[in-house]
Amino acid sequence: MNTASDSHDGLDIGLTWNNSFSQLGEDFYTRLAPQPLPAPYWVGRSSAAAAVLGLDPSWLDSSELLEAVSGNRRLAGGATLASVYSGHQFGMWAGQLGDGRALLLGETGAGMEVQLKGAGLTPYSRMGDGRAVLRSSIREFLCSEAMHGLGIPTSRALCVIGSDAPIRRETIETAAVVTRLAPSFVRFGHFEHFSHGNQHDQLKALADYTIDRHYPECRTSEEFAGNPYAALLQAVSERTAIMVAQWQSVGFCHGVMNTDNMSILGLTIDYGPFQFLDAYNPGHICNHSDNQGRYAFNKQPNMAYWNLYCLGQALLPLIGEQEPAIAALESYKTVFPAEFGQRMGAKLGLMASQGEMSALDRALIEDILKLLAADRVDYTIFWRRLSHSDGGRDAAAVRDLFLDRVAADAWLLRYSERIKHIPRGESTDLMLKTNPKFVLRNHLGEQAIKKAKLKDFSEVNTLLTLLESPFEEHKGFEEYAGFPPEWAAGIEISCSS
Ligand code: AMP
Ligand code: MG
Repeated sequence: MNTASDSHDGLDIGLTWNNSFSQLGEDFYTRLAPQPLPAPYWVGRSSAAAAVLGLDPSWLDSSELLEAVSGNRRLAGGATLASVYSGHQFGMWAGQLGDGRALLLGETGAGMEVQLKGAGLTPYSRMGDGRAVLRSSIREFLCSEAMHGLGIPTSRALCVIGSDAPIRRETIETAAVVTRLAPSFVRFGHFEHFSHGNQHDQLKALADYTIDRHYPECRTSEEFAGNPYAALLQAVSERTAIMVAQWQSVGFCHGVMNTDNMSILGLTIDYGPFQFLDAYNPGHICNHSDNQGRYAFNKQPNMAYWNLYCLGQALLPLIGEQEPAIAALESYKTVFPAEFGQRMGAKLGLMASQGEMSALDRALIEDILKLLAADRVDYTIFWRRLSHSDGGRDAAAVRDLFLDRVAADAWLLRYSERIKHIPRGESTDLMLKTNPKFVLRNHLGEQAIKKAKLKDFSEVNTLLTLLESPFEEHKGFEEYAGFPPEWAAGIEISCSS
């Protein structure tokens, strides 16, 4: 298959390439080729992600593409490189980091960057081996597509491949590579890198590049007339606020919100020890290595702001003065609550209303979150059952989730009083499109990984199908929407990947 596209210049997969990042110059990256992995095999493939790339889906069955994404064959047209960035990790300046195991293959003419994660050593690998293990790669692959299915801004994942090459972590594991896609993999840390290094020409080149390619409206901002860099900070603050509001409403915990893991486009990137909440625990810490709970679920909104503040400091040489930078960051404080309120309102089946949410609706949301936390109710199951409760009129299955039934009944009564003003079908439709039936719970990922280690990739495929359309009923797959087993609480996911 596709042998016609072989050429001595590398494999032509039918895409045009633009490679704009590489035109920034060699201060921004090191050109190098991926290190081949022996005897690669397919683990998971997303035809939806192929469509985003404009890639003919038949490539996902081809041994040529398998060779290309495992580093055994060059792709024609790309510009293969590892970029340099720095960052704050767990609140501390960490200095230079960079793509230690990720490699940009290039950017297509349609504006999608294609990256291999786990492609081998780079000049930025520091103490690492440049590789990624199968378990974390399956998690990244599935969660990228799951987040997209939920409508949350994210990098995408085209495929994940495995190899029996041994990789040393706490134990000996095997290697894998995720091929991931995003319009840009530029991070807050890229800006911090050049700012901290007093490389202000490069800082400006990077900011201009980002604005021209992704935020052209910043050049004509009225609020920040003549200061496109302040406008950029504001635009990034808004996108980040929208992303984190979506995380909070769906119960997603990222786990490692270091500034080097924050996308300049407000995309969820760098999936590591992430978790979708099972029982609702606002203080939940999903990263076993996060001893202080810096990135606990309920701290994520503040941590995102902290990271934006770092970005603001990095951009200060371009913005010029403190005042517009502070004004730009302020937008986070209005956009986040507004977006979060909208999302939670939709979860309750309340139609989007212009302007501020009423105090009564806000109390309805705050009070249910308190009850969910007090009884450690399963977050996803609660919202899905509520969606099926006919506006709280038929709420026995919801009530059953609570220990404190008196409190649950009192809230359900308030809720049905509020929702009865909305046409019945409308609120139910909205809720069923807002409250997913399927999320990538830790134990589901673990089951797929366990089988994949035995070369059975059926669970990876099943989960991909369910998570691509998480609001559909998928009859026959009820067990994937059920309560987590008891052993799920004991799963420990650390930074090791
Ligand atoms: P992460 O916590 O995965 O976002 O990674 C933080 C930094 O460590 C980034 O610069 C990564 O490229 C680098 N890194 C993580 N794992 C490895 C590895 N196995 N080999 C080389 N670099 C790594
Ligand atoms: Mg990272």
